[in-house]
Amino acid sequence: MKCPNCGQIMADDSKFCSNCGTPFYRTYESYNASKVNMFFLSHNDKFPEDQITAIREQLLYIDENKWSEAYSISYKDPLIALLLSLFVGELGIDRFYVGQTSLGVIKLLTCGGFGIWAIVDLFLIMAAAREENARRLLNAIE
Ligand SMILES: [Zn+2]
Repeated sequence: MKCPNCGQIMADDSKFCSNCGTPFYRTYESYNASKVNMFFLSHNDKFPEDQITAIREQLLYIDENKWSEAYSISYKDPLIALLLSLFVGELGIDRFYVGQTSLGVIKLLTCGGFGIWAIVDLFLIMAAAREENARRLLNAIE
């Protein structure tokens, strides 16, 4: 990027112009904001709606090197979780998929809670996938 004061070309993550000393605080923030927007473009619908504002706030201030971690997490697709719940929910595969292994085992052993849990999960499993994604992301960038 370019120093707005003297035109000196600087690294994108510079906080001050090396030539005239102008702080790039505002530029730096809007640069991060655009990275956050980019992230949510490709990960829209992967996080709980009521946590998105808080996650955005956190992402605005993470270090540059945390971004690769944020992108390398294998996020659970809520839609796939729903399909698994629909077709193999009685085997607990949906709960395994969203990372809840012990719930998956119980669900498997009880044949999806004798069918009742399997039905209830159709309404819960997408939220469970989003919760798990939020937990993984916040763990990685903390
Ligand atoms: Zn300058």
